[in-house]
Amino acid sequence: MLRVRFWGCRGSIPCPGVSTVEFGGNTACLEIRADDKLAIVDMGTGIRALGDWLMGNDFKKGPIDADVFVTHTHWDHIMGFPMFTPLFVPTTTLRVRGPVSYYEDDTIESIISTLFSYRYWPVRMNELAAHLEYDTIKETTLDLGSGLWVRTKYLNHPVLCLGYRFEYQGKSIVTAYDTEPFRNLFPTTPTEPGYDEDVAREGVTAAKEANTQIFRFIRHADVLIYDCQYTNKEYNAGKIGWGHSTYEYAAAIAQKAEVKKLVFFHHDPNRTDAQLRALETGYRKRVTAKTGMEIIMAREGDTIEA
Ligand SMILES: [Zn+2]
Ligand SMILES: [Zn+2]
Repeated sequence: MLRVRFWGCRGSIPCPGVSTVEFGGNTACLEIRADDKLAIVDMGTGIRALGDWLMGNDFKKGPIDADVFVTHTHWDHIMGFPMFTPLFVPTTTLRVRGPVSYYEDDTIESIISTLFSYRYWPVRMNELAAHLEYDTIKETTLDLGSGLWVRTKYLNHPVLCLGYRFEYQGKSIVTAYDTEPFRNLFPTTPTEPGYDEDVAREGVTAAKEANTQIFRFIRHADVLIYDCQYTNKEYNAGKIGWGHSTYEYAAAIAQKAEVKKLVFFHHDPNRTDAQLRALETGYRKRVTAKTGMEIIMAREGDTIEA
């Protein structure tokens, strides 16, 4: 059985409070289970509670062994790692993989170790008891053993960011956050400064091709976890180029890709429980009723089966 459990669904920054109790205020962390095999996507603040849960459950059966995938190195996706209790247990093994930004000498290990810099945190990386392996990855396909595979795809975000497609016994769970649709970045009307007909045409073609590649990556997913930080109205009022998508876009691309369950994820920190619930109900009425595609607003603690 392939399933995902949400330990943090929020984007940008943790936002605990009375208006975020239902959907949660922790930042991105997913627990993926392929029967007994454990993979973790992102180390947002949600990973703290996951760590405690693993210590109280998995650890009773044996040492904790997990593949950890970082989508990208923005704070909200890595900041919970120092509070992940299995790090302080000598029998723990973690294989940490993720992409890095544009500096050539950057590695995922060097970026994660910044979290344990003494000026920010009292525990140093070399004081962690767990066995940690790091691998800086690009677009690739990895065999995680026991029949679990993962494929990666670059998304559209200000730093390099990977989507992950987990495949197990014919079922799939795909993450596609943080991302926004690719668009042409060059002037397209002759009256704009710097307009060049060929460049404009190439820009439109390149954006279309990049969007097609993401479409192929998510196609026929049983569960698609998609970036939905904004509504179209918010996006068009100054958020273009910030690296996040909209509910409208996610619903449209998921329908076209014949996704079975679409999960709205990476909630804006300002979005209240009441607003998220209303959005979920609205999309179920408009989209699920017509197409049969299930729509779920990600809630901390929820489990979804592929
Ligand atoms: Zn984020
Ligand atoms: Zn980001």
